[in-house]
Amino acid sequence: MPQSERASPFGTARADDYVTARDLADAAYCARVPLLRRWVRRPPQRTPSMWHGLARHAEARMEDRRVPERYGFRPSATVRREVRLRSPDLGLSGQIDLLLDDGRRIVPVDLKFGEGAADPADIAQVLGYCALVEATTGRTPTEGIVDRRETGQVLRVPYDDAARALVRDLLALVRGSLAEDRLPTTAPQGNRCAACDVRRLCQAT
Ligand code: SF4
Repeated sequence: MPQSERASPFGTARADDYVTARDLADAAYCARVPLLRRWVRRPPQRTPSMWHGLARHAEARMEDRRVPERYGFRPSATVRREVRLRSPDLGLSGQIDLLLDDGRRIVPVDLKFGEGAADPADIAQVLGYCALVEATTGRTPTEGIVDRRETGQVLRVPYDDAARALVRDLLALVRGSLAEDRLPTTAPQGNRCAACDVRRLCQAT
């Protein structure tokens, strides 16, 4: 897979775009992905497993019973769904699947398809949501939750100084790549290229 730095053959990416929490997840997967997505200007291709995941999301949205307790909140806690947040200070935006708030604790939940421990992309995305909540509400989540509805796993990701540093680093990485309209040199781990949905474009650069 080519790893050299090349300027965009597809025009100039809009460097003033907000970075999204999804960009952070993409950058945690491979630093080249956020810019490649902008070059093709399209959302991720939906694989059968992603469609299945979307269907599960829809089902999950319909499940109103016992949602707060599932995440260790009192039944009286507020559950807001599909919460769009945008922070001019961070230059970050995102849509949170569930935002739980009991007046004392506030926690974003990302509903995910799949199984196993939260991977780096899952972690980056939910921490991006935590940073958005903190920046836009002035309240600090102590954690974000990745909920694997398929397997019933509720995975808690602490939001602490190390988490803030990770979000800051990924934001800087994505913003730098977009501002320069230049693909970072990076070596993705393992066999990520094989599962990457922008690999054709990546290979063409
Ligand atoms: S194909 Fe590989 S190097 Fe290219 S963007 Fe995807 S993961 Fe990164």
